[in-house]
Amino acid sequence: MFPSLLLNSVLSIAQLINPDANFIKLKNQLQHYGFQVNIAIPPDNSLPEQQTDFQRRRLRKPYGLFNAAEKSIWINPIVFELGIGNSVLIHETVHAAQFCQGNGSLQALKLDIEPIKQAQPYFKRYRDSHYQTLEKEAYTVQTQSNSYELALALLNKYCQKNLVNRLLKEAFNFRLFQNL
Ligand SMILES: [Zn+2]
Repeated sequence: MFPSLLLNSVLSIAQLINPDANFIKLKNQLQHYGFQVNIAIPPDNSLPEQQTDFQRRRLRKPYGLFNAAEKSIWINPIVFELGIGNSVLIHETVHAAQFCQGNGSLQALKLDIEPIKQAQPYFKRYRDSHYQTLEKEAYTVQTQSNSYELALALLNKYCQKNLVNRLLKEAFNFRLFQNL
């Protein structure tokens, strides 16, 4: 009886950490543009400063994290259990588009859409106005009815350009090297 019980719990864990097809497609697209996507508990470093009431809860790990220095994204496995895996990845995808727009440091995309009222406390908690603008965009996209398509389109729009420029630069350097 014990082994089957063990097998059952292994199976249920596997089912919990089981992203759907959209999640995998978006994750692959992020990786295509050179972002490392980790399905693991985010590390403590590089968390922006937040208001006191949120600081009290700082022991709770965030659901997602974007690390610009490492060009990496962290997705806390608990989000699959909560059924919000896609929503969290969509949020981090907006930061990836901001990263491409800023060429390595996050820069606002200046979207012409407004966040829903319920999203306001989530970005207003950031003290730094730059962070607040970046988070406002991420929460705005995340709460749209077409959030998935929108995030994918933004990623392609801002990071495609970046990828082409990088490849052109590499090709140019290669030619330069060949001429020497
Ligand atoms: Zn964010």
